[in-house]
Amino acid sequence: MTKSVVLADPRGFCAGVDRAILTVQTILKAAEASGKRTREDGLPPVYVRRQIVHNKHVVEDLAGQGAVFVQELAEIPDAAAQAGIPVVFSAHGVSPVVKAEAERRGMHVVDATCPLVGKVHREVLRFVREGYEIVYIGHKGHDEAVGVVGESPEHVHLIEHESDVDSLEFSSDAKLVLLSQTTLSVDETAGTIAALKERFPWLEMPPKAKFPWIQEPPSSDICYATSNRQAAVKLVAQQSDCVVIVGSANSSNSVRLMEVAQEGLGERGKAYRVDDASELDPAWFEGLESVGISSGASVPDELVSGVIDALQNLGFTGMKSVETIKENMHFVLPAELRRKK
Ligand code: SF4
Repeated sequence: MTKSVVLADPRGFCAGVDRAILTVQTILKAAEASGKRTREDGLPPVYVRRQIVHNKHVVEDLAGQGAVFVQELAEIPDAAAQAGIPVVFSAHGVSPVVKAEAERRGMHVVDATCPLVGKVHREVLRFVREGYEIVYIGHKGHDEAVGVVGESPEHVHLIEHESDVDSLEFSSDAKLVLLSQTTLSVDETAGTIAALKERFPWLEMPPKAKFPWIQEPPSSDICYATSNRQAAVKLVAQQSDCVVIVGSANSSNSVRLMEVAQEGLGERGKAYRVDDASELDPAWFEGLESVGISSGASVPDELVSGVIDALQNLGFTGMKSVETIKENMHFVLPAELRRKK
């Protein structure tokens, strides 16, 4: 029997990641074209706050082209603001505190926050204005969650798991609404939402008209790309003896994909996450007939190709694709770049 690879479709880049990477590339290209790539003052053509997307290969590639990545704005010298060097905010979004700091220091911000994340920020502000307390399901410390909670730390209550629901206390007359991080696992969130609804039956779901990508059920802000990739990998896992997810350890949606794949495989096999082909261990595939493959929303397809090549070298020469949906989402570049055109 031919040993084969089972490839998930859709996988890899989502519209928000595509836009964020293109944002940095566009600035780099413009600097190159105007001869400002290597500046006499030693400043780079662009600064990026945090990883533009959570993938080390993407970050290394852009850094190799001249982008300088910083953790905090404090690492950027004042001379950069004076020289008009752009500072890009990553796809995960930032809290108002960061925006205020950039404004105070006169920085030239190009905001590459994914529009779907930006929508959640705006919803937080609207619900707070309307007197709601917001229960937000997300991962503590993740850039996206930090940014959203930062919109109103006293009214946004972050929980991670079903077991955290008991820690919440609200009076019965509190107006409550649910929001969530965009990259969670649809199934895992369902359990947390069920527990929340049992404890706080009056909890409201986010408005569907404004969140057309919302899953139904369960209702949450998990974005189209996250849910599409999870649905595809679930089918792939059913047809595979093990699954390899290509994606970085700090990529929330990649880690969730691995969890969804593991759930689909059950006792039959194991799901692995690797950054690239160099992390594959041939021992994982001994005696297997089919290996499922998918990748997180921040992963370039050439990394997936590298994994496929490595598996072909191990004898997995058959190839099958499991396609669940055709994606056609596209976001225009940030307004700051469109204005310059
Ligand atoms: Fe935007 Fe979803 Fe991609 Fe995150 S995973 S950047 S929310 S499209």
